[in-house]
Amino acid sequence: MKALTYQGIKDVKIKEVADPAIEKRDDIIVRITSTAICGSDLHLIHGNVPNMPENFIIGHEPMGIVEEVGPDVTRLKKGDRVVIPFTIACGQCFYCQHQLESQCDNSNPHGDAGAYFGYSETFGGYAGGQAEFLRVPYGNFTPFRVPEDCELEDEQLLFLSDIIPTAYWGVDYGGVKPGDTVIVLGCGPVGLLAQKFAWLKGAKRVIAVDYIGYRMEHAKEVNQVEIVDFTSEKNIGNHLKEMTQGGADIVIDCVGMDGKMSPLELVETALKLQGGTMGAIKIASQAVRKGGTIQLVGVYGSRYNGFPLGDLFARNITLKMGQAPVIHYIPELYRMIKDNTFDPTDIITHRLPLEKAEFAYEIFDEKKDDCIKVVLKP
Ligand code: NAD
Ligand code: ZN
Repeated sequence: MKALTYQGIKDVKIKEVADPAIEKRDDIIVRITSTAICGSDLHLIHGNVPNMPENFIIGHEPMGIVEEVGPDVTRLKKGDRVVIPFTIACGQCFYCQHQLESQCDNSNPHGDAGAYFGYSETFGGYAGGQAEFLRVPYGNFTPFRVPEDCELEDEQLLFLSDIIPTAYWGVDYGGVKPGDTVIVLGCGPVGLLAQKFAWLKGAKRVIAVDYIGYRMEHAKEVNQVEIVDFTSEKNIGNHLKEMTQGGADIVIDCVGMDGKMSPLELVETALKLQGGTMGAIKIASQAVRKGGTIQLVGVYGSRYNGFPLGDLFARNITLKMGQAPVIHYIPELYRMIKDNTFDPTDIITHRLPLEKAEFAYEIFDEKKDDCIKVVLKP
């Protein structure tokens, strides 16, 4: 089959690789019909996630049709349509039973964290879904079976694999409630969805921050938020604090590591610059009100010397973070898409065949061609 493989920093290639096969009795094999590229994939190709072997297949936002099931799979059969969440989870352990599937105790043989498709040996070593076929472990728990009578297109369902439940978890776990002022850092796919969900949770004011013109325009026009360019002010954190009369109730960081820098550069810049590396987290620490919450949805993957712990402590800030436990949110969000409560498709700017994945990475990474979100069609 064809698959998108990691070759080195900023180097991905479509290659011909072996088809996946059933390895455990409750595995399934899915024929991928649509698969997306995520901001988290950019951390991989920037070398900010350790233990990425050459030829490793990337991708954790796929959906498709069940092609084959292992003998112990009872919940699915060949021909079922499924969305595959990025978190690989057994459904049996303490964490899966307590709605923290992203920390499943059994899926990751390599470390004390959860396992994710296409996300390095450190996070389980499972091949990813930017490919024609995918092996999905725990067929009785991990996949979401799309009801047979569902008439929605792939594009309406695909982001249930990650960024819809991730953004929803960001506002839900972050605790957005009616009347809140919310600042969302980042107008990428995750930030744009988080802005929608902040309104749905009853926020009275939503401010979106980025510096890429076309993405801020999209936020303003489609999500009806106020926009702020973080390069427009020397001290953007204080500017946001003034705009919100003392700070936002919640700041949701949908940025994470600055993808353009290696872990070493990140630490060096942190030491050198005031607002530097932690660009986003530093802005968040200044823009949140006393007693407010910073919710990190953006991924942080290395050590941060320079992390503003003292500022947060002095101001009684709650800091929440993590890999989103997406699985238990999917059924509720599926119903919300069916009911037209929100539309996840406005962020799709590019639809390309899998063969064009290398180009897709280039425009998504470099924010070219007005790219917001790419859907690949194997
Ligand atoms: P993206 O790269 O498309 O978007 C990030 C946006 O942030 C860009 O538009 C960029 O211009 C903007 N930005 C950069 N620095 C900024 C700053 N200091 N302040 C405000 N905006 C800034 O990525 P995405 O797909 O939207 O993903 C966003 C983040 O969410 C990534 O870190 C990704 O890894 C993470 N993520 C986390 C989870 C989870 O489970 N926690 C799941 C999915 C994605
Ligand atoms: Zn993702």
